[in-house]
Amino acid sequence: EQDPRISKISSAIRVIPNFPKPGIMFQDITTLLLDTKAFRDTIDLFVERYRGKDISVVAGIEARGFIFGPPIALAIGAKFVPMRKPNKLPGEVISEEYSLEYGTDKMEMHVGAVQAGERALVIDDLIATGGTLCAAIRLLERVGVHVVECACVIELPELKGRDRLGDKPLFVLVSST
Ligand code: AMP
Repeated sequence: EQDPRISKISSAIRVIPNFPKPGIMFQDITTLLLDTKAFRDTIDLFVERYRGKDISVVAGIEARGFIFGPPIALAIGAKFVPMRKPNKLPGEVISEEYSLEYGTDKMEMHVGAVQAGERALVIDDLIATGGTLCAAIRLLERVGVHVVECACVIELPELKGRDRLGDKPLFVLVSST
């Protein structure tokens, strides 16, 4: 039985074909943010899942993980740690490269933001191929953090990103075909 809130969340997400390039169906969550009930329900569904799970870190992936991560972190009593694009964080960082469709990108995290043994949730708006979430998991695991689960608002199941995560659990609200 699907939670009745999910269908409203799904319909609040706008799909823009051929952005940023031909063939991409862009899942635009900015329209979800305009719907105060659907936005609140989105945060509540994550909070209901992660409250009481002894999670001390919510790691949010730039840029849209910065929208969903902080309200979840505050509600479950965890800290928020930004996982950023290269050369944005001012302090000492560790970084992890990952492959894109064309070329590679890098993700960075501040040294000292998390401690070995902490339990983390990784959050982003969407999983496509899973490469971005994998890089975030590697960064956290390199410093001894246990990634309990990854969470996204949207999954594009055809791209099989879930398989790329291996046995790392993935929780999503909406699947888009
Ligand atoms: P991936 O690493 O392939 O799983 O890509 C996920 C990242 O790219 C996330 O940070 C998403 O915000 C972004 N992304 C990939 N595909 C889409 C899409 N169709 N619509 C919106 N964002 C996307």
